[in-house]
Amino acid sequence: MNAGWLCIAGLGPGDPSMLTPEVTQALDQATDVVGYIPYVARVAPRAGLRLHPSDNRQEIARAQAALAMAAAGQRVVLVSSGDPGVFAMASAVFEALEAAPQWQQLDIRVLPGITAMLAAAARAGAPLGHDFCAINLSDNLKPATTIEARVRAAAAADFAMAFYNPRSVSRPDTFARILALLRETCEPERLVVFARAVGTPEERLRTVTLAEATPEMADMRTVVLVGNAATRRVGRFVYTPRAAR
Ligand code: SAH
Repeated sequence: MNAGWLCIAGLGPGDPSMLTPEVTQALDQATDVVGYIPYVARVAPRAGLRLHPSDNRQEIARAQAALAMAAAGQRVVLVSSGDPGVFAMASAVFEALEAAPQWQQLDIRVLPGITAMLAAAARAGAPLGHDFCAINLSDNLKPATTIEARVRAAAAADFAMAFYNPRSVSRPDTFARILALLRETCEPERLVVFARAVGTPEERLRTVTLAEATPEMADMRTVVLVGNAATRRVGRFVYTPRAAR
């Protein structure tokens, strides 16, 4: 067994204060950091640390490269924003591992991070205080019909919802369709929190009703939280009661 290892780590939403000590320790011990360009840019350079930024949508190649380095005896941290298990690199590594039995005995650990929806919810108050679900609105890895079916089912079951990747330049209309679909099931007063760039200097939170929500309120740096039927305002906060009706 070689001394190499791979940590698949979450960097949190942005601010270093929201990085766990466990992840900081792994970065301190690493020889190599691998990840999407803006996430690797968050890691402070130091002597003896090689940075390997790569482009987006290269997840499997990036996972294979990280595994190959660990197999060669390097101490590798593969970084994601937020939590690595939430629409991020951890599943890509295990997908690569399924096809590479020779790497399955490596020292591989997943180090959690604060995911965007939890950082955003904490800023708003407690909008996810009762049952909720997280849905990725990107259609890169699943058909749009599946996304719409899941949003419909979640709204019908009165889950609060967190939408990741709500809107991008390549699919400007997805989020408009999702809002229209929510309006079929939810009342116009339903609260919607648009949380942009949480934990960074550009952070902005805006809470509106479903009637007031527009597609332009979201972009790729926004996580959108939709309350359940009981979600309400208290002072400057938004919260969902612990009990269901
Ligand atoms: N693994 C990440 C999610 C990656 S998907 C996590 O656990 O947070 C990328 C999406 O996450 C973005 O489109 C946005 O919806 C959300 N996101 C990531 N960082 C964010 C931040 N600082 N503020 C608001 N949303 C964020």
